Amino acid sequence: MPAKKTQKNKPRLKAIKPHSAEDLNPYHIALRQFDSAAEYLPGIQNGLAENMKRPDRMILVEFPIEMADGSVRTFAGYRVLHNRARGPGKGGIRYHPGVTADEVRALASWMTWKCAIVDIPFGGAKGGVACNPKELTSSDVRKITRRFIAALGDNIGPHTDIPAPDVNTNAGTMSRIYDTYQMMHAGENCLPVVTGKPVELGGSLGRREATARGCLFATQRALERGVVEGLDSVDGATVVIQGFGNAGSIAAQLFAEQGSKIVAVSDSRGGIYDPNGIDVEAAIEHKAKRGSVVGLAGTETLTNEELLAVECDILIPAALENAIREDNVDNIRARFISEAANGPTTPGAEDILFKRGLPVLPDILANAGGVTVSYFEWVQNIENEQWDVEEVNGKLLKKMRSATDAVIDTQTRVNENLKEIERSRERAGLPAKKLTPVNLRKAAFVLAIERVADVTLERGIWP
Ligand code: NAD
Repeated sequence: MPAKKTQKNKPRLKAIKPHSAEDLNPYHIALRQFDSAAEYLPGIQNGLAENMKRPDRMILVEFPIEMADGSVRTFAGYRVLHNRARGPGKGGIRYHPGVTADEVRALASWMTWKCAIVDIPFGGAKGGVACNPKELTSSDVRKITRRFIAALGDNIGPHTDIPAPDVNTNAGTMSRIYDTYQMMHAGENCLPVVTGKPVELGGSLGRREATARGCLFATQRALERGVVEGLDSVDGATVVIQGFGNAGSIAAQLFAEQGSKIVAVSDSRGGIYDPNGIDVEAAIEHKAKRGSVVGLAGTETLTNEELLAVECDILIPAALENAIREDNVDNIRARFISEAANGPTTPGAEDILFKRGLPVLPDILANAGGVTVSYFEWVQNIENEQWDVEEVNGKLLKKMRSATDAVIDTQTRVNENLKEIERSRERAGLPAKKLTPVNLRKAAFVLAIERVADVTLERGIWP
């Protein structure tokens, strides 16, 4: 059956004001998120908050690659270590033309807070190479990976900073990272230097699905806890997913398995819509063959902006930063947003959603399943063990449920004690401020900052 041509079900878009004055720099957004949560933590030692929000270290390497066509191109690669108070740095490596120092700084800081929320003994880090894999051959990508890792040298390591997959990198990329690092450290157990490896090469069962599965577990728990009035389960819920890669396509499979109806999905080339529910396996097959979900038989084609405007119970942004902004937030007709991507909602958009009573399960909780199973992989590598998938998923479920409970409980604790926190601010000599109730993201930041600050002070500021 050809793709449906009918426009009758297309969502109506409110006019999008061309680029509002909103600051979309991800690092500025990360700093703003930190500052607005730190207002609720007057007990943090003077100056410590300022230190915690900045990265400990940032490395820029520029290296040459001889391309398939014989030319030489120089690529810029970044690795940011944000904070190591709770353990080694941990965070993915991204290959994308939009990679910048500020993007990597933001992503690294979100990793610190994420690891604290799921309570695993890692700090935060992130890396990226500014390149467009769609225009590169597989041999170009292999050379980029090896040169990048060689250039980072001992700035990564099994007990210092441990990479993982992110946008446009996968288990194959992780194999190359392991192999390159192992060449430089012959005779050592180098498996824990990187996670998200293929299962045959020390990868963990369940890691490939972990980000999406964690998103499902956190969403299920939040619904059980009554975060969305009148919606207590993903079973029977309508779901829209932006981004159809590792996080998005597997979320589509797992939510569908639990009884959700996936009504729209998209990738960088556009979206597809079927109010009766998309056949997820057919969409995955179509994307594998044609490079996009667009054109799947029996579906209507949408733009990515139109996709965000589809009426649904749960919207899962699973692509890149700044998908939901002040200029398009009025189009959203979901009842709940669960952020599988990092940084998909801007602070301005989130304020508007909070006023509308539309809850957002924040990225630093909703997509923490990936790093959680990365931690499990690291433990298995150190112990030379392989856990079965039931054990991995069972442990992930426990972590995601208790992290979701902790964030919701922090929201309640803060919102029930606003007056007391205002008085503590006064006692600490901070400017008087009328505090307003926090949303789930601010609660998640409060929890994470408290946990990182506690460990920092327990260790003591060296020397
Ligand atoms: P991926 O490369 O596997 O997939 C990205 C998908 O997004 C692709 O389908 C791509 O076509 C689509 N996309 C890109 N630009 C888009 C746009 N403008 N509109 C719609 N779709 C677009 O990457 P991934 O690993 O699935 O990562 C997606 C998000 O999830 C990122 O924010 C990443 O940081 C986050 N995340 C990933 C992991 C992980 O384990 N892979 C863990 C935590 C968070």
